[in-house]
Amino acid sequence: MKLLGIKSKLLLSFITVLVVITGLNVGLATYLTNQQGEREAFASLSRQTALLQNELRATVIDLQAIAEKNVAGNQNLSDLATLYAKKRHITEYPEQASRHERGLLFNKIISLNRLQVILQTAGFSSVAVYIDNELSHYLTASEVGMSTLRADDWLLLTNVQDETGDLRFDNWPNWVAGEPPALIAGSFASVKHPSISFRFNANQLMLLEISIPVQAITRAVMRENITLGSPEGLLVEDLAISTQETLQQNANGRDQPIVIGAFVFRKVFDLGFLREIEQKTGLLPALYSPDGAQQIQIVDMKMPPHELAQWALMTQADSDSQIQQRILTVDRDSYYQSLALWKFEEHPRLIIGFSQSTASTLKIVRETITGIVGIAALVLFIGGALGYLLFDRLVQPIRELTTVVSGIGVSTKQDTQEQPVVPISSDKLVDINLRTQDEVGQLAVAFNTMNRLLRQSFETLEQRVVERTEALQLAKEDAETANKAKSVFLANMSHELRTPLNAILGFSTMLQREPELGEGQLEKLDIINRSGEHLLQLVNDVLDIARIEAGQMEIRFEPVDIIRLISDVMDLMHLRAQEKGLRMEMNRSAELPRYILGDEVRLRQILVNLIGNAVKYTDQGHVIVRIGIRLNQAMHLLIEVEDSGSGISAEEQHEVFYPFVQVGKHRTQEGTGLGLAITSQFVEMMGGEIHVQSTLGMGSTFSVILPVELVNEREIDNLISDAGKEVIGLLPGQPEFRILIVEDQRENQLLLSGLMEGIGLQVKVAENGEQGIRQFESWQPHLIWMDLGMPVMDGLEATRCIRELPNGEEVKIVAVTASAFEEERNQILKKGMDDYIRKPYRSNEIYECLRNQLGVKFFYEDVINPQEPKPDLAGLREAMSSLSAALRNDFREALESLEPRRIETIIEQTSAVDPELYIELKRLAHNFDFATILKVVKESG
Ligand code: ADP
Repeated sequence: MKLLGIKSKLLLSFITVLVVITGLNVGLATYLTNQQGEREAFASLSRQTALLQNELRATVIDLQAIAEKNVAGNQNLSDLATLYAKKRHITEYPEQASRHERGLLFNKIISLNRLQVILQTAGFSSVAVYIDNELSHYLTASEVGMSTLRADDWLLLTNVQDETGDLRFDNWPNWVAGEPPALIAGSFASVKHPSISFRFNANQLMLLEISIPVQAITRAVMRENITLGSPEGLLVEDLAISTQETLQQNANGRDQPIVIGAFVFRKVFDLGFLREIEQKTGLLPALYSPDGAQQIQIVDMKMPPHELAQWALMTQADSDSQIQQRILTVDRDSYYQSLALWKFEEHPRLIIGFSQSTASTLKIVRETITGIVGIAALVLFIGGALGYLLFDRLVQPIRELTTVVSGIGVSTKQDTQEQPVVPISSDKLVDINLRTQDEVGQLAVAFNTMNRLLRQSFETLEQRVVERTEALQLAKEDAETANKAKSVFLANMSHELRTPLNAILGFSTMLQREPELGEGQLEKLDIINRSGEHLLQLVNDVLDIARIEAGQMEIRFEPVDIIRLISDVMDLMHLRAQEKGLRMEMNRSAELPRYILGDEVRLRQILVNLIGNAVKYTDQGHVIVRIGIRLNQAMHLLIEVEDSGSGISAEEQHEVFYPFVQVGKHRTQEGTGLGLAITSQFVEMMGGEIHVQSTLGMGSTFSVILPVELVNEREIDNLISDAGKEVIGLLPGQPEFRILIVEDQRENQLLLSGLMEGIGLQVKVAENGEQGIRQFESWQPHLIWMDLGMPVMDGLEATRCIRELPNGEEVKIVAVTASAFEEERNQILKKGMDDYIRKPYRSNEIYECLRNQLGVKFFYEDVINPQEPKPDLAGLREAMSSLSAALRNDFREALESLEPRRIETIIEQTSAVDPELYIELKRLAHNFDFATILKVVKESG
């Protein structure tokens, strides 16, 4: 994640605040503008409603006045009287109709002409004249019409505007029979006095009707008396506009006046009228009939008629004219609307509606918002720019602080496992030079204080670290010295102990081979030998423990013939088991490979310890050794040693693996208490596990699981060649090897020279290093067994000198040491030695070393398969016959008297004659099969 700097954060916060404030402003402005817009809209609606009401009232009153005034004029009244008289006459004498028709029509045209003037000047839409409640003649802007009696029937003649748009009455041919237009048609309710009414004639059309009835007194008179009107015989007089009062009067006691006809003036209010108002006010006007059924409106507000009627009824009861205001939604558009009931002469005549689309208000709101947002953007821009400059100044000290901190070496990154923060050193803890009078300044002061404290603690810490390191160094040196002393002590002690032990064991073994010894002597030798072995075991065990503790024990991996190893150990234990009458058994699984990679010495030790214990702590029953292999991810060697012996109690089972621990009743028995401790340590070092399962009095089972590896084929071949064989002589046909022994201890001199001479090698002995060098120069040996610890000159020094002499590089020098530590091997090899042998050594080790260093070839006896091959008697006889008769005689005598030394000498002599015979004879002699040899000698002649 990218790090956001303080400045960016400040700027971001600042801009956020600006945006929020602007948002609030816009919201508030919107709300207020909305409110204001609504208020203003309603105010204007009310105002316009009131204006329209007044205007209508004025219009009606004006028109009524004009109408009355025009009708009251003498000409119109007399026109009506004349036409009344004529119509009566024609009605009464229909046979004269055609004679009078022209006159009648002439009079109507005159009247129409007069009425046209009124129409044109007063703003009426039409005027119609009724006589006896029947339409007499009428006039609109574009059409005229008049009724006449023809063929006993009243007929309407009409005339319309000509092409030039003129409406002329004299163009007689244009008059045709027709129907009155919608404006005139409709029932005419006869009225007795002037009145007005509103009529919604057709959809979107309203008519204002002003009716002016005319009254007169009519009398039949003699022809000559006729003054007014025609035809003769009807006198129509006292003409006047009929009113409630005048109609009732009985002037001069004469006849009561009657209504002879009426002028009806009409004014049309239609969509055009409303559009004019719309244009004037910018609002949407509407007119409804008080029953809600009829309406004229520019935008259909979809007002349900019954609701309107109900509202009108309610409002009517109220004397004050009320204006209702509301917000209407029509087809997703929303409107402010006002409604008012308009009354004239106390009667409700119309419902006036005014509406205004809220969109117009919204438009204002939108404009307001756009304005505010524009200003806000400007403020934001200026604010941002100012902030950028201002924050730069604010953040600068913090930046300086960060730079100083980074300079000190404190990482500004997070301490993570992959990238741990590097510790800082005290010399980097420099102070910050920042003197601002704000929080950052305070922070810098605090930082400097912290720095000082840190420096102090660093210094004391460093001091303490130095002291502690010194103390540790001293302690380490002490420990190392102590360890070295211990190692030296152990090495010396082991040397001291092993050297005599070597002699004891070596000579007792050699002595046991002496044929002259009696039973008692052999028994004592055996005791010496066994005690030596026990002592050696103890020394070895103690050394092993010491080495393990010193961490000097190394596990070596080399090919091991595991089956032979176990057989060896079993053989070793067999005798003791037999003595105790124990049955010994070995079960090995079929999958167990013969060769594995392992540390043979340690494995042998483990087996000897476990099987030895089993035999030792079992008095009757059996000891069973099971050996197998477990193959899962890795290969594991499984060793199980089961016995039917004394067993170990559950509480003591875990203790047996501690050093010097002996449990149960065996505490005083032979043993050191080290065997299992060493065993478990070895097992652990090899990466394995050891467990014990035991029941007191029933027996124990020790099991070991060790990870092992298989050995490859080639190595196996090498091993098979001479494994398990014992050297008994040199193969013939080899050069004569000269061996020098440099050794100060007499016993060891004898032991080694015995081993060398025993197989026919030439040997010389030197007592110390100096003598050794001299012997080397004079005798030029092939190999030198070099003891390391000697008086006068030690082995290492002698080796160094020899290596500098002529041929000194070629001679093989093998160190012989009683040192406890095999780990010294490498060091010794580095000092010019070719190989290394530890005391006590086994004869095989010595011979193996000779074979490796000089390529000496040996004559082996197979110890693995002790069953002797059947000697080839015929072959032997044949070979034997090639010997001289004297030698054969000598041989027979020696064999018959069973003189080993003599027999051996003669066998040696055969080697020069027939090496194969020699080997066979030697083998037979080694097995004391003298009988066979004698038989062959005798049979060979
Ligand atoms: P030791 O030299 O005494 O045998 P070890 O370490 O080999 O020392 O054994 C420790 C002790 O464990 C023995 O002294 C013995 O008491 C007990 N122990 C070991 N193996 C067996 C066994 N197979 N049966 C009974 N007790 C055993």
